[in-house]
Amino acid sequence: MEFQLQVGWADHGQHEVTASVNVGCWCETDHGNHDVDVLKFAVGDEMSLPQAFESCAERMTGWLADPHDADLWRAREDLPARRM
Ligand SMILES: [Zn+2]
Repeated sequence: MEFQLQVGWADHGQHEVTASVNVGCWCETDHGNHDVDVLKFAVGDEMSLPQAFESCAERMTGWLADPHDADLWRAREDLPARRM
């Protein structure tokens, strides 16, 4: 289970900020991992880079307070559970 907070470039030459949670894949076909929740903001007239970063960081704080249980996230997203 991983949490990512990322500042990158969008297509239109502006920054975008992404916060995501991803879990390992236990599907028949191995996808490597799955994003189970993503929050993304494009920086522009509506939102500055600090605002976007702050919003993503705030969401991340919420996720980190949730139980760190990848199986719970897989169940929520209807992904196959880990095989024992
Ligand atoms: Zn998969």
